Amino acid sequence: MNVAVTIRDLSITYAKKDKALQNVSLEIPTGRITGLIGPSGSGKTTLIKSVVGRLKLPTDKVTVLDLPAGSAKLRKKVAYMAQELAVYHDLTVRQNLAYFTRVLGFKYSGVKRRVNETLRAVDLYDKRNSMVGNLSGGQQQRVSLGVALLGHPKLLVLDEPTTGLDPVLIENLWQLFHELVEDGTTIIISSHSMSEAARCDDLVLMRSGKIIATGAPKKLMKQTGADDVEQAFLHLVKGEEE
Ligand code: ADP
Ligand code: MG
Repeated sequence: MNVAVTIRDLSITYAKKDKALQNVSLEIPTGRITGLIGPSGSGKTTLIKSVVGRLKLPTDKVTVLDLPAGSAKLRKKVAYMAQELAVYHDLTVRQNLAYFTRVLGFKYSGVKRRVNETLRAVDLYDKRNSMVGNLSGGQQQRVSLGVALLGHPKLLVLDEPTTGLDPVLIENLWQLFHELVEDGTTIIISSHSMSEAARCDDLVLMRSGKIIATGAPKKLMKQTGADDVEQAFLHLVKGEEE
């Protein structure tokens, strides 16, 4: 197995609170979609932030593509779509993508092409001249995803990218995620939706800052004798509490 991310016994406590992550150790393989699945408050965003270098950590705790998380060299290899949208509402879709393409260091001549490719990938070409602030939530989400895709990242980390979207859009996005993986991208995606979990290649089930199980959806269902991931999750939680 080629490993994209290694986490070694990571615990994180925000000021005077319970541990947001408690002794988490994990290996995430390359070339697959790994889903971080758990209820709200289970530590998904904290885990994601530690992978994309948004938290200050000792350098040996989290390794990403053979480098310490947050290394400058990872800037172009790892893209992160945060749970809260980080795009400019008072710019058009095209202007947003063009701006972030330049931030990535693309030469002027390459910007237009990359922006157009990305507009098509996230199905926003028809909306390219619309102000982002005037778009629907789902469209804004896709602008944000487009920004993450601009640099052809090796590792794409998406924090609840489908929350609040309609089922058709969710279906389309998953199709895109699978295409990206076929092209060699590794994807880490968080979701509180157990039904969405079944679409991932591997799962990391989380609860109260701890990993309660890892493995392919089918393996976890078989292991617990459950018919779906939600039942498997409940079974695992029950097992922990006993
Ligand atoms: P999830 O993404 O699964 O909803 P989070 O990682 O956001 O979970 O949160 C895990 C725990 O850490 C929660 O109890 C949350 O309240 C707490 N937490 C998250 N961010 C902060 C913060 N900036 N300050 C204090 N507590 C936080
Ligand atoms: Mg979160």
